[in-house]
Amino acid sequence: AAGAPVALSCTGIERVFGGLRALKGVSLDVRQGEILGLVGPNGSGKTTMVNVITGFYPPNAGKVTLFGEDITALKPHRVAARGVARTFQNLALFKGMSVLDNILIGRHTHMKPSALGALFYWWWAEREELAHRRVVEEMIEFMQLQDIRDEPVEVIPLGLQKRVELARALVAEPRLLILDEPMAGMNQEEKEYIARFILDASEARGVTTLIIEHHMDVVTSICDRVVVLSYGEVISEGEPQAAISHPSVVSAYLGE
Ligand code: ADP
Repeated sequence: AAGAPVALSCTGIERVFGGLRALKGVSLDVRQGEILGLVGPNGSGKTTMVNVITGFYPPNAGKVTLFGEDITALKPHRVAARGVARTFQNLALFKGMSVLDNILIGRHTHMKPSALGALFYWWWAEREELAHRRVVEEMIEFMQLQDIRDEPVEVIPLGLQKRVELARALVAEPRLLILDEPMAGMNQEEKEYIARFILDASEARGVTTLIIEHHMDVVTSICDRVVVLSYGEVISEGEPQAAISHPSVVSAYLGE
């Protein structure tokens, strides 16, 4: 990924909430095929950065480009349509729907508005629906969710729900995958599972990934590069082990 083209480029991102400067000119790049870790103490601006990239919060200044195209302040659905998929710190699954249907929703950016299609081209729409189902079935297998595919999503354990959310993001076949604490609340075994799926998706499918993660063992084992935020500023970046053992990072985490 070192010589790969830049997939996501953020320059000088500013975001203010009332009197609080949550992001003070943050710049970062994610290269194609790379797993970039975004770390930093609570309140350092990680989720705000993701919300700016995905169009949930327009920045007060700065620019976001995706494969060279300016996507700054596009609405979230437009950012999604350009190939950015994300998962949320607090799960955003649809209760009452099955695991399979929740994952199928991830295909919506690939589906055509089909009111007319359904009327006049029902045969074509049906074939398209089948193609989407095939992608979803393959993902269910890849993520080892076969046994629970028909379960309502709210009855399965948290670790599996997180896995379903990751599957939903992956079936969108994103050009950029953004994961906000995909391992929060998981036990060790579940963490290792998710870490492996993220690595597999990156290696086998070439998925470009930006991941917010608190577990430093995970960060050093799966990330190619790390950017560390503190009080809305980049205080360190580079190769994971070096970036997180920088003295300013250690003191930021210790609150000194
Ligand atoms: P992190 O994800 O690193 O924990 P956040 O991006 O959630 O940090 O928050 C950065 C700062 O911005 C915090 O001080 C937080 O309280 C503030 N903040 C985040 N979102 C909002 C919001 N919607 N309204 C007001 N303040 C916010």
